[in-house]
Amino acid sequence: MDLGYRDRVAVVTGGSSGIGLATARLLLAEGARVAICGRDPARLEAAREALAGGERLLAVACDVLDKAQVARFAETVGAWAGRLDLLVNNAGQGRVSTFGETSDEDWREELELKFFSQILPIRAFLPLLRRSDQAAIVGVNSLLALQPEPHMVCTSAARAGVQSLLKSLATELAPEIRVNSILLGLVDSGQWQRRFAARADQGQTREQWYGELARQKKIPLARLGEPEEPARAILFLGSPAAGYVTGASLEVSGGVSRSI
Ligand code: NDP
Repeated sequence: MDLGYRDRVAVVTGGSSGIGLATARLLLAEGARVAICGRDPARLEAAREALAGGERLLAVACDVLDKAQVARFAETVGAWAGRLDLLVNNAGQGRVSTFGETSDEDWREELELKFFSQILPIRAFLPLLRRSDQAAIVGVNSLLALQPEPHMVCTSAARAGVQSLLKSLATELAPEIRVNSILLGLVDSGQWQRRFAARADQGQTREQWYGELARQKKIPLARLGEPEEPARAILFLGSPAAGYVTGASLEVSGGVSRSI
């Protein structure tokens, strides 16, 4: 199936690692022009080199929570490509803490990260998206939105709010811009690699540690996802091939979801 990305323009926030990096790689392979951002300049440069996208790749250091930086990122993309066909709001990370461990400040930080990593890029890129005849936004979200975990209390609550935001936007921005999301289970990316590196028993091999994690989390497919797996779902939802899909969410969780 041709996803129709040739000569299309995409922005992937948090495109310097994990799922965002895999998404940028697949978009480039499909013939799109891709702009990525991340905060850490060294990580961004390593991603730029690894992606080897030549003139079809733009890498801009930008914190998606900084309004001025996001505005500059949008201006740079506008000058580079003149329009935007797909915005992938992927930048972020989860926070592990129970209610008892989570301070008011932690709550504010987490709510700001989850909401404003969607709100600021959507606002800034809206004028460029409106210049496209096939505009789409894909929000990268988590199954925690539907299935909260007490040990990730504020992330779960914020994720549910983000689903609500994206659903509202799917109506408000229609019919010009489609808005969809993916709901992730556990995907082997930067976050999990860092937790593996900091594992309590340093004698545990990668295979043992990840196998134990999949068992603990009762993942029916018995493994974590690879970054390319959610990336393929993002590409589908963001493409003209999904032209009649908006306000939808697609679970990429190895079957962890318990709802019908
Ligand atoms: P990674 O840590 O591998 O990648 C996260 C990316 O986001 C990096 O490029 C990072 O770069 C960037 N980033 C983080 N904060 C900001 C910011 N404020 N501004 C700009 N860029 C930022 O993680 P994943 O690939 O796993 O995560 C991708 C998304 O998926 C995240 O939103 C995460 O919460 C979500 N998710 C992941 C799950 C998983 O199991 N992997 C499960 C559920 C949700 P830098 O640090 O340099 O800014």
